[in-house]
Amino acid sequence: MPTWMPPDEWAALKRGDGCVLCEDAHQDVNVFGSKIADLTWSWFRLANNQYLPGWTVVTLKRHATELFQLAPDELAGYWADVARAARALDRVFQPAKINYLVMGNICPHIHCHLVPRFYSDDPTWPVNMNQEQGILPPDQYAARLDALRQALTDA
Ligand SMILES: [Zn+2]
Repeated sequence: MPTWMPPDEWAALKRGDGCVLCEDAHQDVNVFGSKIADLTWSWFRLANNQYLPGWTVVTLKRHATELFQLAPDELAGYWADVARAARALDRVFQPAKINYLVMGNICPHIHCHLVPRFYSDDPTWPVNMNQEQGILPPDQYAARLDALRQALTDA
C-alpha cells in the first residue's frame, strides 16, 4: 500500500518545494497527459490513461494546497474554470454524471480530477483512477483532445 511521505518532506512539498505541478502543469505535454486548454485560472489536461473515458484534470496556475487559501475572486474563478471544463466533457461524452475529485494526497497543489460516469457504471463504485491502464491509439487520443477543445469554444 502506498504511504504518505515523511512529514518534513510533505511540509516542504506543501510549501511548493519540488512541486511537480508547479514545474510541468503548464506544458503542452507532461508525464500525466496533454493540455487541452489554457483557462483563466487553470490548465485543463487530458490524462494519458483513458481507461475512465474523459478523465481530465483542472490545475490551478499557482501553488496553493487548500481551497481556503484562495482569494475570493481566485476561488470563484477556479471553480468557473472547472465548470467550463465539465460542460465540455458533458458535451463530448454525454455522461450520467461528472465526478469532481479534489484530493492532492500525492501532490498537494490544487487540482480537480474530472471523471465522467456512465449509466453502465456502478454509481456507488469508488473511483480508483489508476486501477487499469487505458492508453488510446494516438489518433483516437488526438481526436479526443480536439473534441474537447471544440466543445470548450462552443458557447
Ligand atoms: Zn505546486
